[in-house]
Parts: sequence; structure tokens; C-alpha cells
Amino acid sequence: MFRVGNGIDFHRLINEPFRPLMLAGVEVKSDFAFLGHSDADVILHAVADAILGAAGLGDIGQHFPDTDPIHKNMQSSLIVHKALSLAAEKGWKLVNVDCTYVGDHPKINPIRKELQQSLANIVSLPLEDVSIKATTSEGMGALGRSEGVLVMATILLEK
Ligand SMILES: [Zn+2]
Repeated sequence: MFRVGNGIDFHRLINEPFRPLMLAGVEVKSDFAFLGHSDADVILHAVADAILGAAGLGDIGQHFPDTDPIHKNMQSSLIVHKALSLAAEKGWKLVNVDCTYVGDHPKINPIRKELQQSLANIVSLPLEDVSIKATTSEGMGALGRSEGVLVMATILLEK
């Protein structure tokens, strides 16, 4: 049996040199950071939401409410691990992950391999089963003005 899931997440970029900018568990060098209650790792949030969705387990807002102080600055790899373990309780195992990042800052291409390796480690999959693609909004709208980024994730579960 297979189940496909998709997740989407947006985070606003803020000029805050002392807040780490986290992407797929990697601290990216930047004077900017993503605004958020947890560590605001937009890739990991989209992946966690896709896993929960495929397993019929709701969304990360239900499991990790941003009103709960315990989740403040939380490492988002823990959110992905929790989503995977909830799915595993129902017998589901992750097959692959495919992400599309939409944004102009930070640029993904120079760090893509590092992000893919980190994401592969977090979800315990071989590198070839984890993909991170990047595009821009061609200068249109809030994403084109680098006010934030958007990530879409698609994942497959099997049992
Ligand atoms: Zn998020």
C-alpha cells in the first residue's frame, strides 16, 4: 500500500544577523533569518506536514502549536522525527522526499548538495531518494521581493 502526501510552508525573511537561518537542518550563513516560533526551518516543516498528511495524521499546527512555549526555537528535525514516528506507529515507512523551494534569498543552488545530505540524514533515507529543487517567482509578489520563501514537499509512504 502507498500513500502520497504534500506539504507547503511559508516563512517571512527578517534582517536579523544573530538569529540562525535554518534550511533542511543546516545553518546557512546570512544576515537574514526566517521568522518563526520554532527554528523556522521551512523545508523541514513542509516535509513534516507532507508525512502527516500522507498518514492521515493532521498537520504540524495540531501537533506542534506555535502558542506552546515548549516549541519556541525548537529544532525542526525533532518535528520531522515526531511525524515519522507517528506514521511508523500506523505501519508507514518513508520511500522518498521531493521538495521545491521558491525564493530568491538564500540561493539554494550553491548549497543544494549540503541541504540534500542533511535532509537525507534527518529522514534516514539514501541521498538518491531525497530531492531539493529550486525556482523563483520571476520577481513577482512577496517572494519576488525576497520578503520570504515558500517550500512545497511531496513524499511517498509505503507499508
Ligand atoms: Zn513553518
